[in-house]
Amino acid sequence: MRQETKCIQGGYRPSNGESRMLPIVQSTTFKYDTSEEMAKLFDLEASGYFYTRLQNPTNDNVAAKICALEGGSAAMLTSSGQAASFFSVFNIAGCGDHVIASSAIYGGTYNLFAITMKRMGIEFTFVDPDISSEDLSKEFKPNTKAVFGETIANPALTVFDIERFAQVAHENGVPLIVDNTFATPINCRPIEWGADIVIHSTTKYLDGHDATVGGCIVDSGKFDWKAHAEKFPGLTTPDESYHGITYVDKFGLEGAYITKATAQLMRDLGAIQAPMNAYLLNLGIESLHVRVPRHCENAMKVAEFLEKNENVSWVNYPGLKGNKYYDLAQKYLPNGVCGVVSFGVKGGRKAAEKFMSGLKVAMIATHVADAHSCVLHPASATHRQMNDEELAAAGISPDLVRFSCGIENIDDILEDLGNALAGI
Ligand SMILES: *Cc1c(COP(=O)(O)O)cnc(C)c1O
Repeated sequence: MRQETKCIQGGYRPSNGESRMLPIVQSTTFKYDTSEEMAKLFDLEASGYFYTRLQNPTNDNVAAKICALEGGSAAMLTSSGQAASFFSVFNIAGCGDHVIASSAIYGGTYNLFAITMKRMGIEFTFVDPDISSEDLSKEFKPNTKAVFGETIANPALTVFDIERFAQVAHENGVPLIVDNTFATPINCRPIEWGADIVIHSTTKYLDGHDATVGGCIVDSGKFDWKAHAEKFPGLTTPDESYHGITYVDKFGLEGAYITKATAQLMRDLGAIQAPMNAYLLNLGIESLHVRVPRHCENAMKVAEFLEKNENVSWVNYPGLKGNKYYDLAQKYLPNGVCGVVSFGVKGGRKAAEKFMSGLKVAMIATHVADAHSCVLHPASATHRQMNDEELAAAGISPDLVRFSCGIENIDDILEDLGNALAGI
């Protein structure tokens, strides 16, 4: 199946007489005829359902659809993008380990890594996404377990050189984890460029309608854990909490990583997506291939419009010729980048606030990447406690506005922007 067909028909395949639409299995638990049958499930000797904290058929079907879209071997849903980021790393790194991450990542991921996971004893080194391969190689230590980056960084809009980072990660015996939230598998499939694990905040384009918070982890099944067995004992040595099974031996390279994340992390930490949310996520994905090109088309027109507006001092969109990341965007995202554009309003913080209050179609919201156009002025919202110097240190200028293009009529969006800019 091609991507468009996978969006509709991937995952759930009804058999004779079954419901056409993915059913919501709104049940915590599942019934068995004998305790022996259930015991096999508890021992991971048989696959099946017994408790929704571990697995649920609705969730599994949606994970299978995202897995097919990304070209992976196994996948799982999580309660949020944050949970996906956490599990993806914590599944292979623990206290005393080290991870290399791009510095251009989502702010929530940065906090998770630099503060919360640091408290768990995992050390992170943040590198410039434009670092040379040679300098990147120098950041590896004997205890390095993974490299992490974002296809298109939220909100910096830098484009991650997946192929190059994958190559250096593999030379050093560790997998590359890529957060593909902004690109979606419609615009980029990181596994095709060498990424080993892909994660999503499904809250954004995959759901696409501001309806549910969720996450997903997809494994390519290609990273050879056994070739670096000493680095990844959790996958290559017996798990005492499951009568001594070894994940790579029992589930192969295709299944080991996701089975371990489900059997250990989901069992113990319980960050599950509700089946009802998974159902809504599935509905969203059914139109992903139609929505994403429209988001990109609208964003390109917005970027070009803003470039010509006299009240705008700069525009950042990797689809614009002359953007620092134009060439990388052409390589990894030839069919479109994403719907998010950032720009500066002439007159700084005050003018940006005035502009925001003049918008009628685009709504002020912290959200991005969904059907509704929305706008955020970090200096007066998410980063309002910072003065101008502190903002500069965080890479955010006081005039920066993040505009997430929805899929409304482009003329309404442009008129709205034009009127609000004229109102300054
Ligand atoms: C929003 C976001 C996250 C966090 O996802 P939640 O679903 O809000 O927990 C992670 N990565 C990126 C790129 C995001 O935009």
